[in-house]
Amino acid sequence: MPNADLRLKVLVLLLHNSHMSSAETDNVNTADLQKLILKWYRDKQRDLAWRKPGTSPWGVLVSETMLQQTPVNRVEPEWISWMDRWPTPEDLANATAADVIRAWGRMGYPRRALRLHESAKMIVERFDGEVPANYDKLRELPGVGDYTASAVLAFAFGQRAVVLDTNVRRVFARLDGDPDATSSAPTKVEREFGEKLLPSQPKRAATWSVAVMELGSLVCTARTPRCGECPVAQQCDWFAKGEPLPAGPSRKPQKYEGSDRQVRGLIMHELRESRAPVPLKKIESLWQDQLQLHRALDGLVADGLVEPLSRKRYQLPS
Ligand code: SF4
Repeated sequence: MPNADLRLKVLVLLLHNSHMSSAETDNVNTADLQKLILKWYRDKQRDLAWRKPGTSPWGVLVSETMLQQTPVNRVEPEWISWMDRWPTPEDLANATAADVIRAWGRMGYPRRALRLHESAKMIVERFDGEVPANYDKLRELPGVGDYTASAVLAFAFGQRAVVLDTNVRRVFARLDGDPDATSSAPTKVEREFGEKLLPSQPKRAATWSVAVMELGSLVCTARTPRCGECPVAQQCDWFAKGEPLPAGPSRKPQKYEGSDRQVRGLIMHELRESRAPVPLKKIESLWQDQLQLHRALDGLVADGLVEPLSRKRYQLPS
């Protein structure tokens, strides 16, 4: 009987290894992957405001900027009211910086609001008020990096562009098992892999990109992927290998309590809520550690988010 057990173990091992080597050599069948993920997306996609037909390229740019560092559920109501108030770049360009920062509210990282405001002005001045459908021109806009430019080209203009955000990179890393995919920026291998999987037809390519993002956001999550619900589990290298680490790039959670970010948030909240300049004494009462408080305040001034006035008073930029 021990021999029978041993034979069974060897057989299981051989079967497992043969599955792994086929996954490693032929990593993925592109056509199958596309079909499976696109079908899954048709069935499971979230009905998000900026995905509705008729969303303007400006609406896409605003959504992508907001989503850079804020979760979908917090962005959606802010995006709706933002687009009601400033439906075109020209509308936002005519707003004051203080209004823009107030409207950004508590989405965090408010420098994005200022960059969007600057982008709106640049779009009006240099691009006749229209978001450009061109990668290089998009990259000229403040705060628009490779990801945002590619996302706008794909989702606003239906162009064929490789869109690599953290979610997409994680899904690709797991499908392909690229060990370098934990770097902060996409590697050449990742770009080539993304290009290889991207459908040739532009509209299908755009849907593919949003579908992979959705899969990474809802199923192939950083810490607890739901492989049992995944449409491409059979094609997944990482799953075949028994889910070893590393598991592709993920946003590292940063501690908020006690951080400079928290102090900056308190100061910004105070200034947003006040219609008059706020005395330094009032700002100093917001946080016990005065060294940290002044560091945060100086940082906000340097970032252009806070304007110092004479007699030690502060306000949002005019
Ligand atoms: S099988 Fe699991 S790890 Fe692989 S792509 Fe699907 S959810 Fe991600």
